[in-house]
Amino acid sequence: MRKKIIAGNWKMNNDISGSINLITELKKGLNEKTNATVIVCPPFTSLETAQTLLKDSTIKYGAQNMYYEESGAFTGEISPLMLKSLGCDYVIIGHSERRTIFNESDELINKKIKSAIKNNLIPIFCIGETLEEREKGITFDICERQVRNGLEGISETELDNLIIAYEPVWAIGTGKTATSQQAEEVHLFIRNLIEKMYSKSLAEKIIIQYGGSVKPENAKELLSQPNIDGALVGGACLKADSFLKIIEAAN
Ligand code: PEP
Repeated sequence: MRKKIIAGNWKMNNDISGSINLITELKKGLNEKTNATVIVCPPFTSLETAQTLLKDSTIKYGAQNMYYEESGAFTGEISPLMLKSLGCDYVIIGHSERRTIFNESDELINKKIKSAIKNNLIPIFCIGETLEEREKGITFDICERQVRNGLEGISETELDNLIIAYEPVWAIGTGKTATSQQAEEVHLFIRNLIEKMYSKSLAEKIIIQYGGSVKPENAKELLSQPNIDGALVGGACLKADSFLKIIEAAN
């Protein structure tokens, strides 16, 4: 049985006081008996706040991005060592906004995943097709290319904890959700691909989250699909009550 993992990607939202409020409300509202692992990914500037407020909490936290080098002349970048020193356990890598707005390539994403693993950070590795690609009928080809290139040169043991997030780009922040059948079909495809690339045992245990306009109204249906092991939530994680309802739906 794979444990459900619900992660909130705050994107570029919440200053320090907003972060204190949101984390405090989540802590207050979280049913400590929840079966799901809960992760918040605030902006870099609020990671120290997360570290302080989540010290004794079951809620985990991570970053939304990182650079693959450990230190040096990379103005404006943040290294995996810096994230570790702030107590992060997770890091989102390859989010579609990074791929499209910041031109991140599969090759760069692969370097970041390798560096995260080397530095004991669990990557939440995002993949997914655009609307145009879906309409052309190449969803599986795109996902396969992204998975193969993103995981190039990474061994099975190194993938012990890695999480894959399937996020159809056309469903991110648009209010359009993939139907549970559309999502399940791609999740199954990814799981079978992991089996082909690695092994049945890794395929059976790897966590594949769905992301793209997940909200309290559709979470239960999506999360009840056999190959959907959790959610990566954007917009709906910015309000404690809607994020908590999604966590509840994972039970
Ligand atoms: C995301 O940013 O990963 C995401 C899925 O956003 P939203 O839930 O707003 O579609």
